[in-house]
Amino acid sequence: MSRILSRILASALIASTSACGNHPVNSTLPPALSSHAVPIGGPFSSSELRQFVALDPIDAHTHAYAPRDPAFFALLRKLNLHILDVLIVDDHSKDADQNNLAQEFKDTESVIAKSDGRVALCTTFDPYRFGRKDFIPAAIRQLNRDFYRGAVAVKIWKNVGEEIKDVKGHYILPDDPVFDPIYKDIAAHHKTLLAHVADPDTMWQPPNPSAPDYPYYMHHPEWYMYRNPHAPSKPDILPARDRILEHNPNLRVVGAHLGSMEGNFQQLARHFDQFPNFAVDLAARMPYLMQLPRAQAIAFIVKYQDRLIYGTDNSLFQDDDARDALSDWELAYANDWRFLATDDYLIEEHSHGKVQGLDLPPEILRKLYHDNAVHWYPGILGSSR
Ligand SMILES: [Zn+2]
Repeated sequence: MSRILSRILASALIASTSACGNHPVNSTLPPALSSHAVPIGGPFSSSELRQFVALDPIDAHTHAYAPRDPAFFALLRKLNLHILDVLIVDDHSKDADQNNLAQEFKDTESVIAKSDGRVALCTTFDPYRFGRKDFIPAAIRQLNRDFYRGAVAVKIWKNVGEEIKDVKGHYILPDDPVFDPIYKDIAAHHKTLLAHVADPDTMWQPPNPSAPDYPYYMHHPEWYMYRNPHAPSKPDILPARDRILEHNPNLRVVGAHLGSMEGNFQQLARHFDQFPNFAVDLAARMPYLMQLPRAQAIAFIVKYQDRLIYGTDNSLFQDDDARDALSDWELAYANDWRFLATDDYLIEEHSHGKVQGLDLPPEILRKLYHDNAVHWYPGILGSSR
């Protein structure tokens, strides 16, 4: 789908590329609307923008490594937006930055320097070095250097669990004992672990063209675990993540993408109840909230209002057309905000009908968009506050 067409759609789904692996991508036109509600779409109106700006919004899940275009910084100012810029190392990526952590860090540091305090860093370590003798001391040295230079969090990504194998050819899991000193180091520095482990359920299921994530997996077969029966299952990977929570009660852990429990909100609720050190971001999973019955979505958010952190997975890479990508960023913010903050009708293609905004109360919106990010990622507002 073209970017232009995607912009026409009044949906919270955007057609941007996804850095960390599974941004749902629009694939079909939405169904016809019934006549009694006119859905809202497109960029912010001026009155909507005023309300969004007043939230002091933070997007706690982005990948912006090379926004040299001043339009990027202008957009942050216009939206009064702070972002968490998340690094990953991906050996499948064609983006030069994502193959080389040192370069990625350097590029991101220059973005942060130009951002007037609006960009904070979530660093990572290179898990492909897992088998090296000096893996742990080198990773800890690098993380501590990054903390010193302002990183507020560390990302562990789905390549741990779905890609990287040990010398015996076994997939490594996020709770492999080799990672323990890293988790202890993050906790000792009062930083946060951002854990994107596993993926949507659809990745282990037969192709389903109506699933939100279907187009992504068709374009990225390397992450389509259904075709890889030797890879660990989701029920193998998530308990490994949970053991990290259990064994490190002083480590704050944010589960990216609804903690990869997007298909089971009861399971997510049980995790919140069991692990006080666990929160999740909403990045690239808004369609799953939209698919819930409206009253159920509101009740869930109200109950867990301190554990849900707004994020998008918006990305901006070196080869992207910055203006085009930034239009998609703004559209995503507008559509997500309408879903959370208004009772307007949106189009949501995967539910085959209309979706009405949740019209959440201002104090809860403030938590989702601001307070929770500040609480779970201390330092995220950097020196601008
Ligand atoms: Zn991501």
